[in-house]
Amino acid sequence: MSSRSIPLRIAPILFAALCAAGAVHAQGSAVAPTPTQLKPAVDQAYTQLLAAPNIKQLLDAVQADHDRSIDDLKLLTEIEAPPFKEQKRAEAFLARLKALGLTDARIDSEGNVIGLRKGSGNGPKLMISAHLDTVFPAGTDVKVKERDGKLYAPGISDDTRGLAVLLSWLKVLNDNKIQTVGDLLFVGNVGEEELGNLRGMKAIFRDHLDIDGMVGVEPAPEGNVLVLGTASHRYEVTFKGPGGHSYAAFGQVPSAIHGMGRAIARIADIKTPSFPKTTFTVGTVGGGTSVNTIAPDARMAVDIRSDDMGALLDTEKKVLAAIDEAVAEENKRWNVTTLSASTRLIGDRPGGRTPADSVIVEAAVRSNAAFGHKTLLSGASTDANVPMSLGIPAIIVGGGGKTGGFHALSEWIDVTEGWRGAQNGLVTVLGLVGVQGVSEPLLAKRPPRVK
Ligand SMILES: [Zn+2]
Repeated sequence: MSSRSIPLRIAPILFAALCAAGAVHAQGSAVAPTPTQLKPAVDQAYTQLLAAPNIKQLLDAVQADHDRSIDDLKLLTEIEAPPFKEQKRAEAFLARLKALGLTDARIDSEGNVIGLRKGSGNGPKLMISAHLDTVFPAGTDVKVKERDGKLYAPGISDDTRGLAVLLSWLKVLNDNKIQTVGDLLFVGNVGEEELGNLRGMKAIFRDHLDIDGMVGVEPAPEGNVLVLGTASHRYEVTFKGPGGHSYAAFGQVPSAIHGMGRAIARIADIKTPSFPKTTFTVGTVGGGTSVNTIAPDARMAVDIRSDDMGALLDTEKKVLAAIDEAVAEENKRWNVTTLSASTRLIGDRPGGRTPADSVIVEAAVRSNAAFGHKTLLSGASTDANVPMSLGIPAIIVGGGGKTGGFHALSEWIDVTEGWRGAQNGLVTVLGLVGVQGVSEPLLAKRPPRVK
């Protein structure tokens, strides 16, 4: 028997196990060759932008705003934002957006902070975002500590730096009266980290059917552009039987642990493709009462990931079938029907890919080149998974500075010349939406999606 539902809350122990399960952010090896021949329109737009006096002035302003933006970074970092408890930080981020001129910004029903900076009209709508949540539970010491030229605090680079960069972009655009052609949708979203299951992004793309593209800001080495969103499904599986004395009840009852063992053996033999990379593991197990009891219960958590949604669903089908077959086999072994298994979906991230030859990727490549960086196209599971799964162009770029220790209490950022990364990201964004009197928008307007 299988029942599948998404629970509101998960036991902390499982939370820790899931967080430890793997890297989440925009780092890693190349998932596609970097385009070398860019579309002429892309090259032209960036040539125009980088030559324009008002854009030069704007980029100087990003550098001049560096120290102030580090104050924002410290302020927001020191407001804890555990998964499902992002509200205080959301309110602070909202207050900063409003203070910097985005007066109609608000918090939506999911808890995301959203504010629209309108363009001159008839341009695309580009979402620029960073996530509010961190992996750290309530009560974690989030005080920023300065040591050896680095700033240390949980969540400071992932992704509070992203939030501070968005605020800096807003300030310099307004101070310098830069009128973009397309609209910029500023977003500080909830639910990026593990058990948040991208709930913030899912809500935004459910509620806003007219978003034409997304540029997310996350900690990443210079030149890194995330173009692939690895999909994942995670299950908690519980086996239940009557249980009994290991000697007296032998032969009459099935064992929940033996049944689960059969399932694990079957799952372990599942074959998955290397391309698109598709993986699975039984990550945790538990159960049983004592050494001389035929186990009445057993449970395991299974993680399934793929760079392709079809391959993920195919593997998931095999895992679920293995569980059903194992239960039938254990029941048959003792000629009973008293063992059952139930599955619960505890992780659900859609996936997708932004083509390497798409305008949004070429825009980032061209901007990177202008800042002296070779582009590396990477993949991971991030907020961009949601638009990618919908076929909406999306990338994640770095926000500047050197970063490390993500998801660890020793997380740090070295913000020395971090403004360069902030400039690079802003140039990428401006080419996509276009600047009045300077360049035409590169990002195409899409027909509005239907619900
Ligand atoms: Zn992140």
